Amino acid sequence: MSEKILCSVVVPVYNEELVIQETYKRLKAVMDGLNEPYELIFVNDGSRDATAKIARTICDSDKHVKFIDFSRNFGHQIAITAGMDYSAGDTIVVIDADLQDPPEIIPEMIGKWHEGYDVVFGKRIKRQGETFFKKLTAKIFYRFLKSMTEVDIPVDTGDFRLIDRKVCDALKAVNERSRYVRGIISWLGFKQAGVEFVREKRFAGETKYPLKKMLKFAFDAITSFSYKPLKLASYAGVTISAASFLYLLVVIYQGLFTNTTITGWASTLAVSLFFNGIILIILGIVGEYIGRIYDEVKGRPLYIVRDALNFDRDRALGR
Ligand code: UDP
Ligand code: MG
Repeated sequence: MSEKILCSVVVPVYNEELVIQETYKRLKAVMDGLNEPYELIFVNDGSRDATAKIARTICDSDKHVKFIDFSRNFGHQIAITAGMDYSAGDTIVVIDADLQDPPEIIPEMIGKWHEGYDVVFGKRIKRQGETFFKKLTAKIFYRFLKSMTEVDIPVDTGDFRLIDRKVCDALKAVNERSRYVRGIISWLGFKQAGVEFVREKRFAGETKYPLKKMLKFAFDAITSFSYKPLKLASYAGVTISAASFLYLLVVIYQGLFTNTTITGWASTLAVSLFFNGIILIILGIVGEYIGRIYDEVKGRPLYIVRDALNFDRDRALGR
């Protein structure tokens, strides 16, 4: 190992041509101010715009900046993972490219690290410039996830955080494909602390998390950290059989002691449709888990790197 680096900053970028230059400027100002060796690692997650080109130009002019180019879009969580895999710092900071996470908080995070914390996560006390729908769903999601799992995952925290080298190395041993990185970091343990910040609005461009990706992300988080949805089938089954048994008693009673005739098929059909719906939902949930098991079993690499710039030779070869 030649270079000694205090802090590696990992920035995943996906179609961020409108912001990457500004992000670089803001990050550079903050990191230069620390007077410690650092590196900025941009991970291009298969952008279709000029992001890669701009990143390459930045790399040419500044050797602090390193660049990993994926062969295609692998997803935000995988991009973060790759950045960590390639990082060499004693600490690693993960930050979004769109300046919603203010880089100016990084020195405070490093301060906490000096105090002896291994994980310093950013806690959003307020979110600005995001739709009501996003804020509401995020709020519900973090609380729902918490109620579903035994792992203590702090609510309202994103991937904006600092981790110590040893946490990063421990994370490398976790090879899950459906990755919910912030959850895995909580699962790892270590000494954790939070610093509060206000989540700004996006500097430019649009969110790269449309509803479909958000839903997949939420499913990944829940299925990686909870079996509870699978238990839904057993709970529903027990409740429904108990109710049916009671109803059976009523039917037998009616058959033996009254002469009420059975009327109407509409109600029968309604009940039947209702339960068929429940069965399909539960099958779907089981399917979500099986799909993820299938992904894990295939054991494919998490990501494919097309090109890596400004890393020393060993690191560019993935060690
Ligand atoms: N991102 C990525 N791959 C994707 C989607 C997003 O690397 O497939 C990056 C994106 O460039 C940004 C970060 O992940 O740096 C967070 O995305 P975004 O700001 O669009 O999400 P939001 O803040 O709206 O949840
Ligand atoms: Mg954002």
